[in-house]
Amino acid sequence: MFHPGGGSLTASSPLNPSSYDAVVIGGGFFGCRIALYLKEHLNKVLILEKEADVLQRASYANQARVHNGYHYPRSILTALRSRVNFPRFVSEYRECIDSSFDKYYAIGKITSKVTANQFKTFCQRIDAFIEPAPIDIKKLFNNNLIEDVFYTKEYAFDAVKLKHRMLNDIETAGVKLRLNSKVIKLEDADNLAIKIFVESPDNQDIITAKYVFNCTYSSINHILDRSNLPTIPLKHELTEMALVEVPDPIRHLGITLMCGPFFSIMPFPARGLHTLSHVRYTPHCFWKDEDADVKTVNPKSGHKTNYPYMIKDAERYIPILSKCQYVDSIWEVKTVLPQSEVDDSRPILFKKHHGLKNSICVLGGKIDNIYDVPPELKFMELTGGVI
Ligand SMILES: Cc1cc2nc3c(=O)[nH]c(=O)nc-3n(C[C@H](O)[C@H](O)[C@H](O)COP(=O)(O)OP(=O)(O)OC[C@H]3O[C@@H](n4cnc5c(N)ncnc54)[C@H](O)[C@@H]3O)c2cc1C
Repeated sequence: MFHPGGGSLTASSPLNPSSYDAVVIGGGFFGCRIALYLKEHLNKVLILEKEADVLQRASYANQARVHNGYHYPRSILTALRSRVNFPRFVSEYRECIDSSFDKYYAIGKITSKVTANQFKTFCQRIDAFIEPAPIDIKKLFNNNLIEDVFYTKEYAFDAVKLKHRMLNDIETAGVKLRLNSKVIKLEDADNLAIKIFVESPDNQDIITAKYVFNCTYSSINHILDRSNLPTIPLKHELTEMALVEVPDPIRHLGITLMCGPFFSIMPFPARGLHTLSHVRYTPHCFWKDEDADVKTVNPKSGHKTNYPYMIKDAERYIPILSKCQYVDSIWEVKTVLPQSEVDDSRPILFKKHHGLKNSICVLGGKIDNIYDVPPELKFMELTGGVI
């Protein structure tokens, strides 16, 4: 049973410390950045994060790619949005960006869903930089299996630097942050507010807010389910990316093999290593949230690595990868919209008034999707200009 540890349950009031204009659940990149957008227009904004720090989950445990469209030949809309968002993200988070490596996209000869020509035409259509790879780079590939290799422009972000940047921005803006604070459920307080039941290591309390943003990525449905609110159809995968020390000739490279059951090897600036992910071996299992069955899988608890399979396959295409040294794996639950399975698109999910008035669920398919959020916030009664 939940024992409220204090705080009046009246609607938002500046005199009531447990009452906020907006509460954002989840201190990932999306939650932090959305809180900052909100703080430009609202007085009291709070982030509730269940971990001991921000950006510890999917915002850390991902491939760190700042997408520039290349990855989405099967979804032109996602490719074009990436092209628009790429320069914005790179400029806004300049100090968190690693642009020191060369990025190559290679096209597989067998089982690829695109040909080299189609890929080139697609890049030209979305106006993305593409050039033939130099000979010394092409020599790294097994040309029995690779049709062509292209030099492209794509960067990586440093998730630790991004965390520090978000902490700094939050503090400067006056957004309140409560760590080690897990939201259990939401409840309608009255027409003006939503009750948020929060559990911390040594107490439980109830906070109220006019607007509540559920930015918990793979946990969105856990909160909805516990609140007896309708869940959202989502697909989850337990994912593993291997962290490797790469041999010298590819230390300053990122390589993605398109488009099918292939792999990517990308710098992971937060650890000074590369991630190796494989379409076939990175997902360990998947599940879908059904109405009455919202499953929890702990990504941190001892799963057996698929690295031997990943590297065995990858070195067929790029033989020098056999010299990679495995260091570690990062595990996370990856959550996507069911439609993404069909066309590999990555739109944001933005559901306003989901189950309760002014309760909003946001799921970002990739980091740069953040710029697709502000237009959606226009439904709010905000002062001080347009977001
Ligand atoms: C394997 C993998 C590879 C990826 N590769 C890329 C890539 O290369 N480029 C790219 O742009 N995107 C990539 N993505 C997608 C990207 O990681 C996500 O779109 C993004 O991180 C989502 O940010 P978020 O803030 O919504 O989620 P998160 O960072 O997961 O934040 C959600 C937060 O909510 C907190 N939380 C959960 N439940 C509660 C609760 N009950 N109470 C309080 N807090 C709670 C969590 O602790 C967490 O901090 C990848 C994702 C995965 C998993």
